[in-house]
Amino acid sequence: MNLDGIGVTSRRTRERLVAQLRDRGICNANVLDVMRATPRHIFIDEAFSHLSYDDIPVNIGYKQTISQPYIVARMTEAVLDAAPLKRVLEIGTGCGYQTAIIAPLAEEVYSIERIKPLHDKAAANLETLGLGNVHLIHGDGSLGYPGKSPYDAIIVTAAPLGIPNELLAQLAQNGRLVIPVGAAADQELRLITRKEDQFVSRLLCNVRFVPLLKGPLQY
Ligand code: SAH
Repeated sequence: MNLDGIGVTSRRTRERLVAQLRDRGICNANVLDVMRATPRHIFIDEAFSHLSYDDIPVNIGYKQTISQPYIVARMTEAVLDAAPLKRVLEIGTGCGYQTAIIAPLAEEVYSIERIKPLHDKAAANLETLGLGNVHLIHGDGSLGYPGKSPYDAIIVTAAPLGIPNELLAQLAQNGRLVIPVGAAADQELRLITRKEDQFVSRLLCNVRFVPLLKGPLQY
């Protein structure tokens, strides 16, 4: 990862963020190391850059947000137990922050985004970080991306009302799906683990994500 030009101030504020994540119960050392090493401010427009290392979601345009660092850490930690992660699918690239966090912890990452300008922005951000194992796709990921399945982990960062069977079918044996489910005010973050043809579901916490949209692309 190329960290040239990233100032001491940002490194110090990232250290403070990592301490907060640890206080909130994130304990996987690999996750904390990647969060410490990844500059979040490059994913955020200059007007909001003072919020880069606060543990909150931030507006990225097109009525979308960059996820809250705690939730990114929690989702990453949840799928990491399935290690080693060969192939990972992310649905909802946004500006690419979650992609940048999972990429150093997996062999190949596929990430799909329906809004073209965000897909383009993520591509530029991830190139800045020199992450060569990330494959970005512009398209509708509401039914996954079967072409590269099965996946050891699927991370969904927009919420459907129910869990699509198509996503379960794209999980490898012992694969893990982490997904927010439900309407805006009442969403649960769920971890689904595949054991043969059984799917074990566990509630992680309550969350608030943008909806997982279907249908024609707007951009
Ligand atoms: N992973 C991002 C979160 C982005 S917000 C991060 O790390 O910050 C969720 C994203 O999901 C939005 O950019 C939205 O456009 C996208 N999205 C919603 N429905 C989608 C769909 N059906 N296919 C692909 N992307 C979708």
